[in-house]
Amino acid sequence: MSTSQFVLWLSLAFNVGLGIALWNVIKRTRVRSNELAHSRSQTVEAESRTAIALAGADLGVWEWRLSDDQFVVSEAGLAILGYTPQEFPAMASRWQALIHPQDAPQRAARVQAYLKAPSTRYECEFRIRHKQGHWIWVMERGRLLDANAPRQAQMMVGTFFDISARKNMEQQLLRMAATDELTGVPNRRVFQERLAMEWARLKRQPGQVVTVALCDINHFKRINDTYGHDAGDMVLKHFASTLANTVRKNDLAARLGGEEFAVILQDDTPDSAQAWAERFRLAVAATTLTYGEHVLAYTVSIGLAQLRADMPAAGEALKQADHALYRAKGNGRNQIAVAVG
Ligand code: GH3
Ligand code: MG
Ligand code: MG
Repeated sequence: MSTSQFVLWLSLAFNVGLGIALWNVIKRTRVRSNELAHSRSQTVEAESRTAIALAGADLGVWEWRLSDDQFVVSEAGLAILGYTPQEFPAMASRWQALIHPQDAPQRAARVQAYLKAPSTRYECEFRIRHKQGHWIWVMERGRLLDANAPRQAQMMVGTFFDISARKNMEQQLLRMAATDELTGVPNRRVFQERLAMEWARLKRQPGQVVTVALCDINHFKRINDTYGHDAGDMVLKHFASTLANTVRKNDLAARLGGEEFAVILQDDTPDSAQAWAERFRLAVAATTLTYGEHVLAYTVSIGLAQLRADMPAAGEALKQADHALYRAKGNGRNQIAVAVG
């Protein structure tokens, strides 16, 4: 083989080799780009599946960039509050401004506590204002994407969902547990708790005056016996509303049971407590009630006693008021009697 033939063969072999190598590179690039396209479409699919799942679960999501307070709420999350993304600026301050003023400090404190100790978890229940103006209760949970990142690079992601139904149910149960069913005023349990609270307060602030007034409708059984149980119920409701309207905001009027009611009069002098009792007694005696073709009238007897820090128990004041009430009954009813300290 001549030298020129050798060079020709060599260049041919080199070009074929180069061609094969290039083809392989192209093939691999094609496979890789197909793989990339596939995985990208998988990511898009997964993202939209997640969005659908979150929306289906009525779960809102937000993303908070701590460096500039950017706060992006998902479309499904904004829908819970009645907003569209166009209506809602992506700022943490906007979110915070919607939180109920009574709940906002607690939420802020919990977020700060979590940011200081990210190994704990952030969770908070609070009220947030719907676009239409009413409050909805939400449960919010969140965590930092990378707790080790410097503060400037930190992102927090949160979820939230509407828990109004549960909260309303809880509050209704609490109200029911604290309210007398027939008359709607607080029940004996609430009275006893409040009496214990006032007793504890008196021990801390000995200068305060707290008076207990025990009010019992006179000859109530006769109303039941003469006009029936429904008439008796009507009298009880009327009596309770007269009582509730007579006491001040800080006082407490409760139904202890039957036709017996009690009041805790706060920050009164003993004289002004007696004056209140007398006014209430006269108001009851002056009212009449129409029941069918009947006109019902009734009166009340009241026993008063002062709650004192040195009593052996809070219930002692109620016992003394009961003794005073017994005297008022014995002295002819429709009158007040004061326990002698
Ligand atoms: P006094 O002047 O000595 O207080 O006599 P009174 O008749 O008011 O008291 P008594 O304790 O003899 O009767 C109370 C009655 O109240 C007996 C009970 O059947 C009735 N009563 C208790 N709870 C209710 C209620 O929820 N509705 C009605 N209608 N009656 C009730
Ligand atoms: Mg009675
Ligand atoms: Mg009674």
